[in-house]
Amino acid sequence: MFSFVKKLMLGQKMQFNEGEILLLDEPICLMPIRTVMDTAANAKAGKRNAIYLAGKTSGAYWFEKITKRFYQDKMPAKDIIEWGNNIIAMAGYGISVLEKVNFDDKEIIFRLNNSTMFRIMGKSKKPIDDLYRGFVAGAGTVMLKEECDAVEIKCRAVDGDFCRFIVKPKGKFDRSDPVVKEQLEQ
Ligand SMILES: [Zn+2]
Repeated sequence: MFSFVKKLMLGQKMQFNEGEILLLDEPICLMPIRTVMDTAANAKAGKRNAIYLAGKTSGAYWFEKITKRFYQDKMPAKDIIEWGNNIIAMAGYGISVLEKVNFDDKEIIFRLNNSTMFRIMGKSKKPIDDLYRGFVAGAGTVMLKEECDAVEIKCRAVDGDFCRFIVKPKGKFDRSDPVVKEQLEQ
């Protein structure tokens, strides 16, 4: 198998760039198998935002697991951010950047540059980065030690040239806001 991968890479048929993996010129992403299974289960149960919810479960599960395994249950927030951003880039979703974190107000803002979803799907009337949104909600849940949600408040597919996400505890979102309602309704 490795000789096949080597051949692909030597022939530039498989390329790893920052925030992007190309296989025969087609962008691909790495994701936990559980994310796919959870998405299917959520969709079957008739849940809206099935992809977001699966990403959130996977994100929280993954950080809880590595916190236990490698950090004796005390993974510092800066390590969660560093690991998370590096993995998002390595897995081909785009380039994830922490814009702001406020532990007193329990609010985290992430930006996603060069979203792979946008490059595949193009323009949209609504934000499209549901999987990344789920991953940062899961990471936020572990960082703030309280169940968090995430809302994409700006998406490259709608306007502008990057995506922005706000992560905070579930109860702190204004559910009467139509964007919040759309993205967090189950
Ligand atoms: Zn977006």
